[in-house]
Amino acid sequence: MSLVSAVGVRKSFGGVEVLRGVDLEVAAGEVVCLLGPSGAGKSTFLRCVNHLETIDAGRIRVDGTPVGFAERGGRLHELREREVARQRRDIGMVFQRFNLFPHRTALENVAEGPARVLRVPRGTAFDEARALLARVGLADKVDAYPHQLSGGQQQRVAIARALAMKPKLMLFDEPTSALDPELVGEVLDVMVDLARAGMTMVVVTHEIGFARQVADSVVFMVDGAVVEAGPPAQVLDNPRRQRTKQFLAKVL
Ligand code: ADP
Ligand code: MG
Repeated sequence: MSLVSAVGVRKSFGGVEVLRGVDLEVAAGEVVCLLGPSGAGKSTFLRCVNHLETIDAGRIRVDGTPVGFAERGGRLHELREREVARQRRDIGMVFQRFNLFPHRTALENVAEGPARVLRVPRGTAFDEARALLARVGLADKVDAYPHQLSGGQQQRVAIARALAMKPKLMLFDEPTSALDPELVGEVLDVMVDLARAGMTMVVVTHEIGFARQVADSVVFMVDGAVVEAGPPAQVLDNPRRQRTKQFLAKVL
């Protein structure tokens, strides 16, 4: 069964349709890379999956539950705020900008969510945060504040922070685009490890090498619609559509 199932998703902003019937399926444990030019609607799509936008038509399900709705008495109802928060807990999101709390250490940034939202006892939350920071290669930076860390290190803290909530699904929106080139690799390495550990991931990226290495499928989007989708060997190395070829010629 799909962990993420999007069917005919439409979204407009001020009369301009930016998602024009997007279909996307992500099986549990799969990594899907979402590629496409600026303005294609990639971020908007991720934001719809993560409740940051509401869709105008179509349906998105995460782990069988329709995003934005709850089943009560055999009927679908629009979610109450608490139910939205409940659904969002299962989804980790990592943005281009890291958005760490500036006055909290790396450890506090990671432990905060579990301690406050999941009500994990503080000692446990801090132990788990330490383990997660070690997993992203930052065991020696637990007490550092964001401003004392490089962009790559901050992004790895952001990934650890998302993982601390034990999400079923991780969404990445151009996680390496704001980084100096020499820092991109350390973040991608963490994402490769995560993919190999079986995390279900949807990754918007221009890192074709990453897509080739870990994606189970690559989805190429233009103007709010999926143009081409399939295994990386097909979409990246043997694209069928002219539009895909043109795009790849620019980013490769
Ligand atoms: P991508 O991530 O592929 O670059 P986006 O999803 O950010 O594309 O944007 C798709 C289109 O939707 C763009 O034309 C963008 O200007 C527009 N858009 C995105 N968010 C908003 C918003 N909140 N209000 C109005 N227009 C938006
Ligand atoms: Mg974007």
